[in-house]
Amino acid sequence: MGTCKFCGTTEKVISEVLQVCRNCILQGDWSKIKPHILNVHAQVRKLVGLPERPPKAARPNIKLKCNLCINECCLSEKDISYCGLRNIELRASGELPYPSKSNGYIHGYIDPNPTNCCNGWFCPAGTSSGYPDFSNLKGPEFGTFSYAAFLYGCTFNCLFCQNASHKFFSKRNLFDIETLANQIVKNEKITCLCYFGGTPEAQLPFSINLAEKIIEKIKNKKRIMRFCWEWNGSGNRDWIEKCMQIALKTGGNIKFDLKSFNEKLNLALCGVSNKRTLNNFRFLAEKYFGTRGNDMPEMSACTLMVPGYTIHEEVELIAEFVSSINENIPFSLLIFHGDYQMRDLGITPRKQALKSFEVAKKYLKNVNLGNKFLLGLT
Ligand SMILES: [Zn+2]
Repeated sequence: MGTCKFCGTTEKVISEVLQVCRNCILQGDWSKIKPHILNVHAQVRKLVGLPERPPKAARPNIKLKCNLCINECCLSEKDISYCGLRNIELRASGELPYPSKSNGYIHGYIDPNPTNCCNGWFCPAGTSSGYPDFSNLKGPEFGTFSYAAFLYGCTFNCLFCQNASHKFFSKRNLFDIETLANQIVKNEKITCLCYFGGTPEAQLPFSINLAEKIIEKIKNKKRIMRFCWEWNGSGNRDWIEKCMQIALKTGGNIKFDLKSFNEKLNLALCGVSNKRTLNNFRFLAEKYFGTRGNDMPEMSACTLMVPGYTIHEEVELIAEFVSSINENIPFSLLIFHGDYQMRDLGITPRKQALKSFEVAKKYLKNVNLGNKFLLGLT
């Protein structure tokens, strides 16, 4: 465990790479802490060839303006987008074409249902909900598959990233929607498709277009095919609403990772503000949650309990925020295990996990403790 660079404490859980305790992040001198935090993220990103911050080129040097996510990159000749997917020089040389409506950087594979999806505890693949309109079986959909659409690139820079392989891709990972759609439609045992990553925000037009293509191909068949998005919520409002509408009509759902409530904590852990995420969550939940009128929640929230940082006080703020919109929105708390730049933190202490679980249940009716096996619980 590290030492807090600002208050000197070694008593608390302090990430070695971040070098600042939760207390100082939230209550310390922000004029000193913010540059430190941004610098930590910049150094970590340099190691993997990503730009330190979202590029903000000024006129007349702008070659590409992207508004898919909160970072709203403006790229000049030499720039790379924050997500890493748009690189002006490599595109010019043909080495790395931009993702588009028809082509995406993706690693797709099939997973037997019910999968370890964070929403498996309430969705049609893992329960009897949605039967018979949106599910083939009255009970978990054994014998069927989920198409896991792992999308490369991310709009955040979480120091604890549990899928850091999304940062490493090449032209070999670029696929066109026609090929993918045919492949997915051909396997009749696939009943759902889940976009995750990275985060889908960096490739929203591709993900929407692929879903629409598949829907078009199966429209005259009696085929169940649910579409879900699992994301950090930082996307452009018009695009994310399209995803919501596809999830809604196909029996799928949208999972928001609400990593923090405090913006300062989000900056520290994930390098980017969570303002857009919280606003998007509120927008979609107020407009769509409960509108399907059946036993299938349209949306959910999920929080990873980072030891020492995303403690029960943070979970309480998140749960309170979610319940202020609707107390029936499903909420999953996930046990953390050390990964990427935060391998030194170990797993969420049992006490922190159980306390957070109890606190969340004070606000919300549907709370689930995921990854319980990490604590030896069943
Ligand atoms: Zn401190």
